[in-house]
Amino acid sequence: MLHPKSDVDRLYLPRSKGGRGMIQLELSYKTSTIGLYNYLDNTEDWMLQLVNRHENSKRLHSVTKESDKFSRELDLEIEINNLLSPTEIARKTKKKAKHEGLKQLESRWQEKPLHGQFAARANNADVDTQATHQWLRNPGLKAETEGFILGSTGSKFCFTRNYQANVLHNGADPKCRFCDERIETIDHLVSGCSILTPGEYKNRHDRVGQYLHWKICNRFSIKTQSDWYKHHPEPVTEGKDVTILWDFPIQTDRTIQANRPDIVIKDRKNNQCFLIDMRVKVKVKVMNQTPGAEKKNYVDINNDQPEDRFLRRQDYVAPQVWNLSVDVRAKDSLIAGDETSMSD
Ligand SMILES: [Zn+2]
Repeated sequence: MLHPKSDVDRLYLPRSKGGRGMIQLELSYKTSTIGLYNYLDNTEDWMLQLVNRHENSKRLHSVTKESDKFSRELDLEIEINNLLSPTEIARKTKKKAKHEGLKQLESRWQEKPLHGQFAARANNADVDTQATHQWLRNPGLKAETEGFILGSTGSKFCFTRNYQANVLHNGADPKCRFCDERIETIDHLVSGCSILTPGEYKNRHDRVGQYLHWKICNRFSIKTQSDWYKHHPEPVTEGKDVTILWDFPIQTDRTIQANRPDIVIKDRKNNQCFLIDMRVKVKVKVMNQTPGAEKKNYVDINNDQPEDRFLRRQDYVAPQVWNLSVDVRAKDSLIAGDETSMSD
């Protein structure tokens, strides 16, 4: 069901940019026309040169005029390299036109006050755009499910009670159907409801941790299951030069509240220790948060460790997975298993 005033603009973008991979026919027509004009204008075939001359002399709907118009619309600056063949010139110009066209579609999407919020957020410097849109490349989901997820995150359309009460005005109570305390928005359901915290949210958090633990075990060549979802982290996993703790309290000399990071990696070979505490959040909370707030929780543990212990240095990593976006640091330091960023 569409709202009578809903946005009917159709912006088709590639999956790598957060779209659904369909072709924008209008843009396709424009880039083809520009490509055709550039081919005709540079061809050495005498018959095609005649066609070009005929197109140039037409008053209306000529390839030349349309190509000019579309190039202006796309802010396309065409530099002709005479060393290239007409086919290469046409292909290169078409590619450039497509690039400019997609850039315009992307910015039109981001400028939308409601529908563009997710697109704008996903393009921020702290978000790994490629990892964020990775799921769209091979989702294994039915088209309807994929559309529903994209609709919920991108355009905030979901049949929540808040939507029913404040958009459809059907007299529904906007309060959350589970906790009956807060307004039932998507953000509230995704990670703000007190009733869903112990079950749904904890399960989701543990599943993310399960993947990280599996990835870390693989990185340190510890034998694991072939698939991450079959992997069940043990409280203590021993490798050749490494001990990995999962949800395991760290013994400290004095009482410290935050002494239970999700994962601890004691790397004896490099004499390092990593405390990993991860969160699954909605973007609103991340944006409102003071940078480094979680790190403070673990400063006490760092200070508590006497220098003569085998750990020379400890580091703290806080991967954050938001609703459908991935923190750059999470990917760089853990998911990719990059050697340098782990030891930095
Ligand atoms: Zn609730």
